[in-house]
This record gives sequence, C-alpha cells and structure tokens, in this order.
Amino acid sequence: MTVRKAEPYRIKMVEPIRMISREERVAALKAAGYNPFALKSEDVYIDLLTDSGTGAMSDRQWSAMMMGDEAYAGSRSFYKVKDAVKDIFDYNYCLPTHQGRGAEQVLFPHLIKRKGQYVLGNMHFDTTMAWIELNGAVPVNLVIDEAFDTQTEHPFKGNFDLALLESFIAEKGAENIAFIIVTVTCNSAGGQPISMENIRGVKRIADQYGIKINFDSARFAENAYFIKKREPGYADKSIKEIVREMYAMGDFLTMSAKKDAIVNMGGLIAIKDDAELFAAASASCVPMEGFVTYGGLSGRDMEALAVGLQEGLDVDYLESRIGQVEYLGEELRKRGIPIQWPVGGHAVFVDAGKMLPHIPAEQFPAQALCNELYIEAGVRPVEVGSLLLGRDPVTGEQRKAGVEFMRLAIPRRVYTDRHMDVVVDALANIMKRREQIKGLKFTYEPKVLRHFLCRLAPVED
Ligand SMILES: *Cc1c(COP(=O)(O)O)cnc(C)c1O
Repeated sequence: MTVRKAEPYRIKMVEPIRMISREERVAALKAAGYNPFALKSEDVYIDLLTDSGTGAMSDRQWSAMMMGDEAYAGSRSFYKVKDAVKDIFDYNYCLPTHQGRGAEQVLFPHLIKRKGQYVLGNMHFDTTMAWIELNGAVPVNLVIDEAFDTQTEHPFKGNFDLALLESFIAEKGAENIAFIIVTVTCNSAGGQPISMENIRGVKRIADQYGIKINFDSARFAENAYFIKKREPGYADKSIKEIVREMYAMGDFLTMSAKKDAIVNMGGLIAIKDDAELFAAASASCVPMEGFVTYGGLSGRDMEALAVGLQEGLDVDYLESRIGQVEYLGEELRKRGIPIQWPVGGHAVFVDAGKMLPHIPAEQFPAQALCNELYIEAGVRPVEVGSLLLGRDPVTGEQRKAGVEFMRLAIPRRVYTDRHMDVVVDALANIMKRREQIKGLKFTYEPKVLRHFLCRLAPVED
C-alpha cells in the first residue's frame, strides 16, 4: 500500500470558526436578502466564496513583513519583489499595484491604440473585460468548445481554439488587434489550464502577425503544475522551469497576487524588455496606484509578496492544494452530484442546472443551490450563472448562462479535507430533497454588477 501524503505544513496559528444553528442560518439568509454576499463572515462556517486574498500566509511571509521598508521612494521591499519577478518570469521591469484590476487599469490604455480594436483571449476575467471595454476596445473569447461541456474529459479546457484565433486575425486585420491575453489558468472557464503546446501555437500566430502577448497571471503556478502533470515531456521539469518557458513566450504580464502569490492584497505589472512601455505605464501608475516603487502597497505587503511568489511554486504545496480540489470533486462525483470535470485548479463547479432542472434560468437555480448549502451546513459558495451574467444591455432581457454553476472556491492552506467532507455530506443531503428547492425572484435589482448587492426572495407556488 502506498503511504498517502498529507499537507506539507504544520498549522501554527488558528482562527476559530463556528456553525450557528439552523434557525440562525435561516434568519441570517433572510436578512441578507437571499444573497450570500450580504452575509456576515462570522455567520459562515466554511467560506468558499473566493480563493482571492483568502489564503493563509506562512511564517516566512509574516516574519518578512517585519522587514517592510515603508519608504515612499526606492523601498528595499520593492527591490525584493523586482528580484523575485526577474528570477521567476525573467521580466526586467515591474510595477506593484494594489490588486489585479489596478494592473489592468494602468497597463491597458497603453496597449489599446484605437477605439474598436479587439483584445483576443482564451476567456477574459470579468474585471479584465471591464478594463478592455472602458478603454474602448472589444474583448473576444476564443477558448475551445470543450470548455463549455462539463462532462467531456479534456486535460486543457483553457486552450485557445488556434484555428479560430488565426482566422479572426486574418479576417479583421492585424492592425485591428490591440493585443492577446493568455489567462492562466482560465478562471472564467472553471480554473481550467492551458497547455504549453497551445501557448506555443498562440505565440506562433502572434509573431506571424506582429501582435503582443499579455499573460493574465493570477494562477500562473497552478497552470504550470497542470502542465507538469498532464503534458508529455514536462513530468521531470520543475515548476519554475515550466513558468519560465511559458513566460518566455509573452511580452508582459498583469497579475492579481491574491491568488497564487498567496497574499491578502496586491498585484503586479511586469514587462519583459520594452523600456518605452514601462516608462509610459510608470507615468500612469503614479496618479492611479501610487509611486512606482510601491503602487498602492505598503513595504510590508511587498515583503509578503516577494516571499509568496516563490512559495507558490513549491511543488509539494501545489500537489496538496490541487489534490484537495480534486478530492472534493471526486467525492461529489461519487455521490452523483454533477460537476465540471476534470476539476480546475482553485474550485469545484457544480452544475446546478443539471441538479435542479425544475428551476428555470430566470429563477437562478445556482443561487438557490448556494442558499440551500448555506442553510444545510453554513457553507458559502458563489453563483456563476445567469444571475452573474445579467440582462442584455439592449433589450433588457435576462440572458441565460451556458451552464448554471455554483462555484466552491478553495482558499489556499486554510481548510483541511474534513472541511471538504462537510461540503460533500451537505450536498449529498440536498441531492435527496432537491425537488423541494424553490427558485428566486428579485426584490431589489441594481442596474450594474447586480449580483453583488441585489436582494431576492423565494418564488412561492
Ligand atoms: C482575480 C483576477 C483578476 C483581478 O484581480 P483582482 O486582484 O481581483 O483585482 C484578473 N484576472 C484573473 C484571471 C483573476 O483571477
């Protein structure tokens, strides 16, 4: 029998959590307008809303924070980040930002030359899409079809459809393409990775047409881990070698450091060697994020980031982290709960449309399932379906999501597999009484980004 592996760390500090009673959960959810975003985190037992900024920092990160140099200009802590970026990605220039969207805000105006240009991606993240549109460009998703089929087995569902990429550029003309974004892993497609071979294909097409590549890098290490595990020829390479090989094909990167760099706040822009672009982005960084050697972060934030960037590459940690996501996915599958398969790096996506076929899209089945899971066991997931998608901006009609997902995002180094077991038991119980779950209707619907602040009520029959 092979001896199983455990978490590659000891837990040195704990934050007590507790499950309030079922009656209290029912009352809390009602007071929250049936929107888990409005719950107090104290009323949540296991919080799987997001893996962003929710990771547990290590003893090394906490002790590095004591060394934070809070100088406005030329901070020693900044140079540690710059050195880590050079070491890991081999990019020469870097600008810290307060989080990922800060990096997008600063860099994108310098990459989009004209209104109406296209920005091509495997699948753009929502803030990324917003910053493309705010700069007058048009985001286009060119991910392979397999990304939308939760039941097909495919090792790299975040891949570009290369034929589509090439024909799109050929048809619109290279001068109408602002740049290409390779999102690793592909968050919006369920944390699905992109293969090295596919990135190579993107690079070949980009070179042929003289187009630059940006890596949207929130989960760069998780993507590299999937390449190591799933792509022929990479099993014996280190995560850092794989990351270097990926990033050698790009020109710049924007990063939310709240994911794989395991900090609670922070972001980055890095540029391989374009001094002119760096100068332009630096000039925008000052008024938007802060002076170029802090960009909205304190010295201690940058210290934690410099350490976290390296810790995120640790293969034992990645095996344990992604292993936990796989464990949750496998246990749910055993109980017949329909999920996106194979699971991605940071979350398990439950297909709520399949689980609750009696609830139509306009009554938000995935949101109803999120609420039920909170009532059942104090677990807070998030809806990624028609509620998130919103209305057609022209007709005002509710759009129907391709898949009604309930996302269970797993924070890094925070919960044990026993917490995952709670989620499994709770969903198995819900599976048995799923016909009784009711859809939802709005009692308050904000005009933009409504899912964050809306209020709902169960539909009575
Ligand atoms: C989280 C994320 C962002 C935005 O970063 P924030 O730190 O939340 O501002 C951008 N792209 C991807 C792929 C992300 O996952």
